[in-house]
Amino acid sequence: MLPRLTCYGGVGEIGGNKFLLEDKDTKVLLDFGTGFADGSEYFDSFIAPRQVNGAGDLFEFGLLPEISGLYSEKALQNTAMKYGEPEVDAIVLTHYHWDHTGRIGYIDPKIPVYCGETTSLIDDAYAESGSSPLDGHVVKKFRTGDRFSLGPMEFVPVHVDHSIPGAYGFLIHTSGGPIAYTGDFRFHGPAGSMTEDFIQMATRERPILLVTEGTRVSPDDIKGNLSEKAVLEEASRVVKGTNGLVFSTFRGNDVDRINTFYEAAVRSGRRMVVSMKMAVLLERLKADRKLRVPRVGKDVDVYVRRKKTGKLDDSDYYPWERPYLDRGVSAVDIGQKQDQVLLHLEAWNFPELIDIKPERGGTYIHAATEAFNEEGEREEIVIKNWIAHVGFRYAQLHASGHAAMKEVGNLVVGIGAKRVVPVHTEYPGLFKSFAGLGRSALKLPVSGEPIALSAA
Ligand SMILES: [Zn+2]
Repeated sequence: MLPRLTCYGGVGEIGGNKFLLEDKDTKVLLDFGTGFADGSEYFDSFIAPRQVNGAGDLFEFGLLPEISGLYSEKALQNTAMKYGEPEVDAIVLTHYHWDHTGRIGYIDPKIPVYCGETTSLIDDAYAESGSSPLDGHVVKKFRTGDRFSLGPMEFVPVHVDHSIPGAYGFLIHTSGGPIAYTGDFRFHGPAGSMTEDFIQMATRERPILLVTEGTRVSPDDIKGNLSEKAVLEEASRVVKGTNGLVFSTFRGNDVDRINTFYEAAVRSGRRMVVSMKMAVLLERLKADRKLRVPRVGKDVDVYVRRKKTGKLDDSDYYPWERPYLDRGVSAVDIGQKQDQVLLHLEAWNFPELIDIKPERGGTYIHAATEAFNEEGEREEIVIKNWIAHVGFRYAQLHASGHAAMKEVGNLVVGIGAKRVVPVHTEYPGLFKSFAGLGRSALKLPVSGEPIALSAA
């Protein structure tokens, strides 16, 4: 039998990548994430899948593929599928975003996970300060330059630039020929040249198949392609132009963005204050010799949420929070030096503002993606209500984690694979508009339908 690739997610949707790659007797899953819309027609904050049914309530709506020898005993309780020893040999991850890792919790922990060294460090931080999707799995780590084999397949991980460190694409040598999978990528972050490295290496392999993301391949990719550097320049300008407090919301594991705001704070003579969760991540990432991150305590301070009145007591805090109690800063501390602080505050921590007592006239920077669905629009309204309540200016500043449509087109045409499979996009059909695609045939994926891998 020819090797084959089956897409079980990321088909006509952004996120939810779940690709099964089979060659001879070896089965490998490339990513196993949650889609952004995944099941929102059936489940919401008021109707959730029943935990006691394991994966059963998700099987009902086709939100998880019914692959035998994949799921844990717990995931299969109360389902029609019988638990059996693993038939899938490994999960291989491109990066640590939820839409690529979110469903791993259902997988049999006997199946090992292959991921980048940085991804493993990020996961350690999440395990320490909350929960980890990789909990219980043996984790095998790689870096660019490494190769690893799974059965007849050889994997060559190649770094790419994305909005989380430790993101990879893969060149995979199968018995049917070489294939390439981009994962998520962009060119306009601080490590844009890494994506160029991937293109160069992929082009050299003359792949028979290219699986590529196309988040921004859409009829209305009109948003300006703000680079991370442009975010830094604009954020510095905004912070310098503010007399009172500046606080900002952005994704806590976007290390480029952390560095951007740290630099903006330094430039304007302010002190950046981060959450305890971000502090744990920064402490862990110190071990990564390729990354530069602000040092906790030296470069940035840590915000301590008040969990009781009076003197803080260790017993009120989780063990991972305790080291920060003595050296952290409180709402009162920030309230007293508002014009000297740049605070990272996630929206779910906005009630802290009640204790910080911000003086009117400060600035809030929403350094995250603009709302793209109803739920996001509702959140945006609530955020804006809070900003209006404290009398702050609202600034929107963000660089996407994904390449612009034109850049995706250049990558696809440049690599010139025999066939191209667009994933992680709502508009796979739009790939046919890429000028020069002539060399590559477009193969639109169908969920659950195997694509045979052969040079012919
Ligand atoms: Zn991503």
